[in-house]
Amino acid sequence: MPEAEIKDIPEKFKKKNLAKELLDVIPIELIREFKAFVFDKENGTIHIGAVDHELEALQQYLKNTFSGKVIWYKVKEEDVNFILDNYARDFKEEILSLLKTDIKKKGLISDVIDLTISYALVQKVSDVHIEPTAEEIQVRFRIDGMLYKMFSIPLSLQSELITRFKVLANLKIDESRRPQEGRIERKLFAGILLRVSIVPTLFGEKVVMRVMDDSNKNLELADLGFSEQHREIILKNIDKPYGMILVSGPTGSGKTTTLYSLLQLLKKDGINISTLEDPIEYALKGVNQIQINKRVALDFSTGLRALLRQDPDVIMVGEVRDSETAIMASDAAMTGHLVFSTVHTNNAPSVFVRLMEMGVEDFVIASTINFIIAQRLVRRVCPDCAEKRPLDEAIVKKVLNHRGILSVLEQKYHMNEDALRGATFSTGVGCDTCIQSGYSGRIGIYELLDVNKKIHDMILAKKPAADIKEALKESGYVDMVEDGVSKVMEGVTTFTEVIRTTKDT
Ligand SMILES: [Zn+2]
Repeated sequence: MPEAEIKDIPEKFKKKNLAKELLDVIPIELIREFKAFVFDKENGTIHIGAVDHELEALQQYLKNTFSGKVIWYKVKEEDVNFILDNYARDFKEEILSLLKTDIKKKGLISDVIDLTISYALVQKVSDVHIEPTAEEIQVRFRIDGMLYKMFSIPLSLQSELITRFKVLANLKIDESRRPQEGRIERKLFAGILLRVSIVPTLFGEKVVMRVMDDSNKNLELADLGFSEQHREIILKNIDKPYGMILVSGPTGSGKTTTLYSLLQLLKKDGINISTLEDPIEYALKGVNQIQINKRVALDFSTGLRALLRQDPDVIMVGEVRDSETAIMASDAAMTGHLVFSTVHTNNAPSVFVRLMEMGVEDFVIASTINFIIAQRLVRRVCPDCAEKRPLDEAIVKKVLNHRGILSVLEQKYHMNEDALRGATFSTGVGCDTCIQSGYSGRIGIYELLDVNKKIHDMILAKKPAADIKEALKESGYVDMVEDGVSKVMEGVTTFTEVIRTTKDT
C-alpha cells in the first residue's frame, strides 16, 4: 500500500454522534479496542479516523471484513472517547421519554441534566438557557450566536432541577434571592468546562451554562477570517516593542479570540506576557493569566497596577471600561510596554473619542496606539446544504437600501441593481447538521485602523469619528461592511448576516 499522507479528520465530524449505519464496519466494541471509527462512507469507500492506523489488529480486521477503499484520518484519543460516549444517540428523544416518567419519585433529575449537557455538547452550543416561564421551563441552546428552543421541562420539577444544578456547581442551596456563579467540570468530555450562573427571575431561578472548550481552538489569523490586506497590517505592526493594540466590538463579537491569536504571534522565549481577564476564556500556554476577582478587590485597575510592578513586556487587559484603567494602560504603553485590550465602541475610528471621554490625553492616544481592530461575527453558510441561488426579493430590497453595501457593490464589484438580481449567491437551504438554519459556525468580519501621520494629526485636532472615517475611506480603508461583502462574494456568508451584524457601524 503506498504511504499516503494521513489527513486530520474534518472539523465537522468531530464531537458528533455517529449515525447507526456507520457502525456496520467497526462496531462500537471494536471502536473501543482499535481506537478507530468510521465517520463517513460513500459507495465502496469508508473514511476512518484512527489514533494509530498502523495497528496490526485493526489492519488485519479490515482485511478480513471489508473489501472497499479505506481513507485514513488522524484523530486524538479524546475524539474516540467522545464517539464512545455519544454514539448514535438521539438525546432529545431520550430526554423527552425520560420526562414522561416519574422523575421525582425515581430521583432521575440528574439524568435529565446529564442528557441535556451531552445534547448541548453534541450540538456545539456556546450556552444553554434553562428558564422558567408561567407555563413551563424552557431549554434553549445558543448555536452560532442564535437561541433555539430545544425542549421544555414541566414546572413541577423546577425546585429539584435548580437544587441539583447548585450541587453540581458547588453553590449555596439555600440561597435563591441573590445571583450565584459556579462551574461544572465534566470528566466525560476532556477539556470542557461549564460556567454556571443562576439568577432569580419573576418565575423562579434561571440557569445559564456557558461552555468553555479549550480543545481544538484555532487561532490562525487567516482561519479567523482576516483578509490578506488586514493580516499585512497586523504583521507590520505587531513587532513594535511598545504601544497599544485595541480590539473593539460588542459583547460576543469574538474580541477575546482575536486578542489570543495576536498574543500567539508574540509568544517567544525571553518575553513575559501577562493578562488580566474577566473571565479567562481558555488557558494559553506560556502566558500568565490572571482572573479578575471583585470579591478580593482585584479589578482591572488594581490588577494592572500590581502587574506593572512586575514589569512584564506584554500586557493584556481584558477590557478598558473606566477612566482609571484607560489612563494607566495608556501610560504603560507610553513607558515601554506593549498593551493589548478591548474597548466597547461600534467601529474603529470611535475608539479615539471613547478614550478621550475616559480622560486619556489626545497626544497620548495619538502617539501610543499602534492599530485598532473592530469586528463582528457573521454566521457561515452551512457547507452541507449550500446552494447557489438568486437572492429573495426581500433581501434585494434590503441590500438596495443599505448605502454601505450598495456602494461597495457598485464601486468594487461593478454590480448594479439588475446585475444583483441576476446573480446567484451561496445560500444554506437547511439540513440536519445546521438544525435547518442554513448556517454552521461563524467567522469574523473586520476593519483595521493603523494610525498613520494623517490620522495622528486628526486625533490631535480632536476630529469626530465620522471625519476620521471619511479620511480613511479616501486612502483605501476596508471597513467591516466591505470586508463582509467580500465574504458574501466568496460564498462564506450572506448579505442578511452582514446587514444584521453591522447595523450600528
Ligand atoms: Zn445545513
